[in-house]
Amino acid sequence: MIATIKEIIGGAKSLLVGMSITAKYGMSKTVTAHYPFETLDITPNFRGHIDLVVNTKTGKHKCISCMMCQRTCPSGCIEIKAEKPEGAKKKQLVEYHLDFTKCSLCGNCVEVCPTKALEYSNEYNLVGTSRHDFHFELVERVVKRADAMGIVVVEEKAEEPKPEKAAAEAPVGDDNSE
Ligand code: SF4
Ligand code: SF4
Repeated sequence: MIATIKEIIGGAKSLLVGMSITAKYGMSKTVTAHYPFETLDITPNFRGHIDLVVNTKTGKHKCISCMMCQRTCPSGCIEIKAEKPEGAKKKQLVEYHLDFTKCSLCGNCVEVCPTKALEYSNEYNLVGTSRHDFHFELVERVVKRADAMGIVVVEEKAEEPKPEKAAAEAPVGDDNSE
């Protein structure tokens, strides 16, 4: 009989302790998010797939097509297409393909870039039904991201010829000196 009473008292005590803990956490501030209706701010240190940095002054990327990132990538994820337009001095980036299925997020490409043109995206919830859903073209993404950020794209001025070249190209009899 005494043992039964002790058991009932112990059970009631345990029940009260459990209920007090439930009440304490039930009343405290919610720390979870109702995903996907709510999302949390991602820490700046999060490493999503690499992306080209959007230059907030020009709305364009900062890549100079040096190919260092493509050469340094140990997994062969990067394929860059660059062309030198007629009359231009430097190559210009046309396409920047990233195969994220092979990327180990080692960060070599970001570290080696001389113009700091690469960063990690904060895309943490990528989903897809095929591996092709994880192939990205980053130049196209820069255009879309600049648009989403409300940045007006500034077109570069055409390269001006050097003074001596301009003089040589000037028509004969164009001298206005007196
Ligand atoms: S993070 Fe590493 S594996 Fe991924 S693209 Fe850059 S260099 Fe290649
Ligand atoms: S290392 Fe930087 S500047 Fe060079 S090709 Fe890659 S992203 Fe462009």
